[in-house]
Amino acid sequence: MQKFSIWSLLKNSLSYHEGWQRQWRSPEPKAEYDVVVVGAGGHGLATAYYLAKEHGLRNIAVIERGWLGGGNTSRNTTIVRSNYLWDEATLLYEKSMKLWEGLSQELNYNVMFSQRGVMNLGHTLQDMRDIERRVSANRLNGVDALVLSPSEIKERLPFINLKTRYPILGASFQPRGGVARHDAVAWGFARAADALGVDIIQNCEVTGIRRQNGAVTGVDTVKGFIQAKKIALVAAGHASVVAQMAGVRLPIESHPLQALVSEPLKPIFPTVVMSNAIHAYISQSDKGDLVIGAGIDSYTGYGQRGSYQTIEHTLQAIVEMFPLFSRVRMNRQWGGIVDVSPDASPIISKTPVKGLYINCGWGTGGFKATPGSGWVMAHTVAHDRPHALNEAFSLDRFYNGHLIDEHGAAAVAH
Ligand SMILES: Cc1cc2nc3c(=O)[nH]c(=O)nc-3n(C[C@H](O)[C@H](O)[C@H](O)COP(=O)(O)OP(=O)(O)OC[C@H]3O[C@@H](n4cnc5c(N)ncnc54)[C@H](O)[C@@H]3O)c2cc1C
Repeated sequence: MQKFSIWSLLKNSLSYHEGWQRQWRSPEPKAEYDVVVVGAGGHGLATAYYLAKEHGLRNIAVIERGWLGGGNTSRNTTIVRSNYLWDEATLLYEKSMKLWEGLSQELNYNVMFSQRGVMNLGHTLQDMRDIERRVSANRLNGVDALVLSPSEIKERLPFINLKTRYPILGASFQPRGGVARHDAVAWGFARAADALGVDIIQNCEVTGIRRQNGAVTGVDTVKGFIQAKKIALVAAGHASVVAQMAGVRLPIESHPLQALVSEPLKPIFPTVVMSNAIHAYISQSDKGDLVIGAGIDSYTGYGQRGSYQTIEHTLQAIVEMFPLFSRVRMNRQWGGIVDVSPDASPIISKTPVKGLYINCGWGTGGFKATPGSGWVMAHTVAHDRPHALNEAFSLDRFYNGHLIDEHGAAAVAH
């Protein structure tokens, strides 16, 4: 694999940048693999990368029905944080945060991880009680977390209007939180996995999962049958559809979630602001666009679009909080399909079918978990048992009642 560095950049600039290699191959599928990962989003690609890198497996394919990173990976608003409430969730997201902190070096690919801080606003006394509880829980788990007063919010964002119909009473703040470039995460993992021999097969929808004596034998695809000893389903919004192919019923609902970006502005917005109560979150990309996310639509569906009133509601709230953006024009709007679990926590688990593993249920907030999710999923698939960090996130919890209720920290957003 060609290494990216200041020297390779200089060397290639002398030949008009015509000497760069392709970043990954486009192989035809082989007849048989040790592991087939279904879904080339960030989580699927990270799973394949860590399977090869940490567990020494080489005969791996990632099968993608569209193009790699074309699902939620490239549709999200890129917020990264680890300040969840419960120990299980905090430790998992914090593992991910630590991986983010070295990811550009690890992959030799600039994922543009920018730790500019994430603020979660509180609008009611109950919001503030919840924030104080979550910040205390975070600190007990060694996660950086602060409670900000309204004047401390104003210091960071002098143009915020605190006295809206949603009065701002304070916020939680995670200084190590921030944003990353979503496409680069998919491309970086794809390039690094490909260099370790992983076959990434695009435009190849999985249409069936074959089983014999309760164990998987392979996948049917639009390019034919591919034999597999193990299958990892990492299909986000289509998780329940692909699991159903193996007769596994998941407690997952798929909903549309929307985002939009404005025309580029000069740098003005120094951090990330989220409000679960009013279903709005906002940051500014390095290119200058305001990146704005909305709440989920309450109906289920697989159309990658949402309803107008949802973004209208979000923009009303944003303009009330930040009146200086009232005349900014919006450039693009889009939707993704998020896989929502009953306790707003992910499922990273073995299934009742031998050799079949599932990673889903990240809902509106899985981008931040991309490296950590791939890391624990790879461990689970390689060893046929969960890592301590994802043991609590098994499918069993929906039968034994040991739920990890993160509605407070995950709710709408991230
Ligand atoms: C508008 C929006 C904003 C968001 N904002 C944030 C945020 O700020 N922070 C955050 O942490 N999270 C956010 N999320 C959530 C986050 O994007 C997802 O939780 C996460 O990206 C899901 O994992 P993934 O990247 O692997 O999924 P995806 O990228 O969706 O990958 C799944 C892949 O599986 C493929 N697939 C499906 N069915 C098949 C099949 N039958 N055969 C082959 N391939 C198949 C799909 O084509 C897709 O490429 C947001 C999501 C949306 C939609």
